[in-house]
Amino acid sequence: MTAATFSLVFLFVVALTLGLRLWLSWRQARSVAAHRAAVPSPFTDRIPLDAHQKAAYYTRARLAVGAVELFVETALLLVLTLGGGLQWLFDRAAQLFEAGGLWHGVAFLSLIAIVSFAVGLPFSIWRTFVTEARFGFNKTTPATFVGDLAKGVLVGAALGLPVIALVLWMMQATGARWWLWVWAFWLSFNLLIMVLYPILIAPLFNKFVPLEDGPLKERIEALLQRCGFKSSGLFVMDGSKRSAHGNAYFTGLGAAKRIVFFDTLVERLTPQEVEAVLAHELGHFKLRHLWQRVAVMAAMSLAILALLGWLMGEDWFFAGLGMHAHGEAAALALVLFALPVFTFPLTPLTSLWSRRHEFQADAYAAHHAQAEDLVSALVKLYRDNAGTLTPDPLYSAFYDSHPPAPIRVAQLRNA
Ligand SMILES: [Zn+2]
Repeated sequence: MTAATFSLVFLFVVALTLGLRLWLSWRQARSVAAHRAAVPSPFTDRIPLDAHQKAAYYTRARLAVGAVELFVETALLLVLTLGGGLQWLFDRAAQLFEAGGLWHGVAFLSLIAIVSFAVGLPFSIWRTFVTEARFGFNKTTPATFVGDLAKGVLVGAALGLPVIALVLWMMQATGARWWLWVWAFWLSFNLLIMVLYPILIAPLFNKFVPLEDGPLKERIEALLQRCGFKSSGLFVMDGSKRSAHGNAYFTGLGAAKRIVFFDTLVERLTPQEVEAVLAHELGHFKLRHLWQRVAVMAAMSLAILALLGWLMGEDWFFAGLGMHAHGEAAALALVLFALPVFTFPLTPLTSLWSRRHEFQADAYAAHHAQAEDLVSALVKLYRDNAGTLTPDPLYSAFYDSHPPAPIRVAQLRNA
């Protein structure tokens, strides 16, 4: 392949992806608008019309921000690759550190991270203080936002810089099979973060207090016993500090695993409903969905690293994406930017897989708790989070990690 051919292929796939994403967003906006006048059938008596309409406007507002961000992201991608931006950053980094050395690579990848962060920041500000605020969801103060940003940058640098340095060093020092070494390191690093995240990182951003004794705790402990589940604690997190959206999740691995409820969830759901939501989360755990994800992530990263190992020897790959420099850091940066464009068509597969897991976890919940409690919890969550009940089927099939509410409720009632 020549560099020019590869540039054309890349440009074509970028344009195709942009077109597809805009078309799907347009379909979603159209579907939500078309069903705005009436609450769909299984929810008619449970969700008031004004909440349904709020969900429609909220969905549309988020799609609009997403579309603008999509254009900006695509422009950035083209400026950095074909426009020579990455090469320019590479040259700037060479002014700071010895060209071709390890620190040159670390500085180059850090500059890319800073540019991506700076471009994404206005959207994050807009989402929090305009979109979320307009619909009454935002609880983040500017001080919390800035604090989160500062902590995020510090944690990112503390973890990211050593990882980049180590990966680049391994690529240079471990010979032709470097990608196996890097893979083993990357896998161990991810598992380590899964263990450390709930203990060291999450508490930097939120307060976790043990769930109070009372009817809810008794219910939950009975459920855990029925399901044969041991955890190192039940915690309530101050999610209301940032947002009115509610959730519950599992975090950690092995002895460090915890169950975390957002305070907003505990406030709004009855103990039976919280129990049903937790039974669903337990289902994910018992059915080993997390480990299946880890296995797929491991296989994908091995494939990507092997691909990277091959591409590093191909001139057309560098030149075709606007870089005349070669080497480890350059290849890593190009793969980071170019690969998502080529893997985008796989999105529906991962979404489908995720929705299967949701159905399985729902079936588990229906078996170990009351299906009807989960239905009423879901209805409340859709209502309070302004989730749309009438997505476009194609949009939903492409992106949705969770099945559309009407289908999910119908399945639960059949369980
Ligand atoms: Zn789930």
